[in-house]
Parts: sequence; C-alpha cells; structure tokens
Amino acid sequence: MAKLNREWHLQHKLPRNATREERLDWHLLHAENCQCREMPESIRLELEARGWTAPTPRSLK
Ligand SMILES: [Zn+2]
Repeated sequence: MAKLNREWHLQHKLPRNATREERLDWHLLHAENCQCREMPESIRLELEARGWTAPTPRSLK
C-alpha cells in the first residue's frame, strides 16, 4: 500500500500553472518524502538526464 505523507503534501502544493522546472523540483522532493504515487515516466527520464538517480529503499528513512 502506498504511503501518503499528508504533512508534506499540505506544505508542498504544486500550482496548476507550475513551470516544468517547478514540476521537476516538486517530483524530486516528492519522491524523497512521500510514496503515494509513482513519479511519471517523463519526469523521471528528465531528472535522470540531469544526473539524478532514483532513491533506493535503503537511502530512504
Ligand atoms: Zn505524495
């Protein structure tokens, strides 16, 4: 069952008109703080193209 970090979501609202950069930032933080949903493929690929690697379960608290 995916775990929703409600606190984090309340503090990090992604605006409907968010830019691509904001969206990438949001998903990056989201992946580190919450597991309620998978990162979209397009976002993941773009982050990986920038040198980001998906956090492993061991790197998460
Ligand atoms: Zn979430």
